[in-house]
Amino acid sequence: MAVIPVALAGRAYEVVIERGLLDRIVEHAEPYLTRYSRTDRAVPFVADTNTRDIFAGDVNDRLAWVGLKAEWFVVEPGEDAKSWAVLERLCDWLLALGVTRSDHVFALGGGVVGDLVGFACAITKRGVGFVQLPTTLLAQVDSSVGGKTAINTRAGKNLIGAFHQPSQVLIDPLVLDTLPDREMRAGFAEVLKYGLLGDAAFFSWLEANGDKVLAREPHALENAIATSIAMKARIVAADERETLDQRALLNLGHTFGHALEAETGFSDRLLHGEAVALGMVLAARYSARRGEISDGDAARAAAAIAAAGLPASLPSLGLACNGAALVDHMRHDKKAEGTTLPFLLLRALGEAYVARDVDLADIAAFMDEELRG
Ligand code: ADP
Ligand code: ZN
Repeated sequence: MAVIPVALAGRAYEVVIERGLLDRIVEHAEPYLTRYSRTDRAVPFVADTNTRDIFAGDVNDRLAWVGLKAEWFVVEPGEDAKSWAVLERLCDWLLALGVTRSDHVFALGGGVVGDLVGFACAITKRGVGFVQLPTTLLAQVDSSVGGKTAINTRAGKNLIGAFHQPSQVLIDPLVLDTLPDREMRAGFAEVLKYGLLGDAAFFSWLEANGDKVLAREPHALENAIATSIAMKARIVAADERETLDQRALLNLGHTFGHALEAETGFSDRLLHGEAVALGMVLAARYSARRGEISDGDAARAAAAIAAAGLPASLPSLGLACNGAALVDHMRHDKKAEGTTLPFLLLRALGEAYVARDVDLADIAAFMDEELRG
């Protein structure tokens, strides 16, 4: 078991990583469940149909043993659940259940469920508590920690949201046994991100042990999750609202990745983690083009990503667009200002930095070179 504190003044919380934790949810979440036993009300749980089908039965049993009852709000799997319509239904459901500001809502699912629940809790009664029970590798190592919550709108992804920290993040690596391999690899991209952005030794460890992590070997998996979370917790504590450059480091691969997600219509053609993986390859290659890392290092980053079964070259996507079209997608980034955009580049494998001198026309030229292969 690992317990990682997220040291935010006044809103400090813990991330608990423990194999089999979901079976012991009543012990772990006890501080947030007692109010429900006292008042005889149902505990609000949110899941998607997949996580409900796989895990709700056990959760209901565990709660029943101590005289608690869960009430479930279930959404369809996929990004469409992060919508105004579902948000409205969820908030109305919480109000109908009579949640108070001292209550906690439980989010059992991947990043979609976590982002939706976090935002609903941020705005319902101006702030209800919530507990994250992330069930995808991506949510376990990234989105469940740090308090970024959001929904998608016509104008783009995650443009409507709030910072709202969970009271607790409970991670059970065992739940990843049922996660589809493709989702596992996509989450692994964010794990590699931590190594590339700030921990060369972790990156080397992942090069050697990535296959064990993907195979869900308990020891390797727990180490990958705990090391990732420890770095995220440190960065979030230092820069909760991304006003300094620290938290921005977590966007390594995301500006390039976002353009690829937009070009593929945010569809199953390219999952977020897959886009980030290829985005990190592009960030490394662009850093090498600027002479900041060697071509050898850029190739090493690409090799680690390819070895995990993730897309590592632009032609492999078969896009029918040019560099200018990809740059156009980047202009819609939340951080865009005029003709420039802060880019996350590499000074070394294990050291990212925010470059503010990048010209988007040069990025377009670079993307054209990359598209040609
Ligand atoms: P992410 O966490 O990457 O943002 P989602 O929340 O969209 O992704 O989850 C990805 C897919 O995996 C969804 O179809 C979801 O229902 C499914 N899923 C989530 N957790 C599990 C799990 N532990 N086992 C099986 N499928 C899962
Ligand atoms: Zn991401």
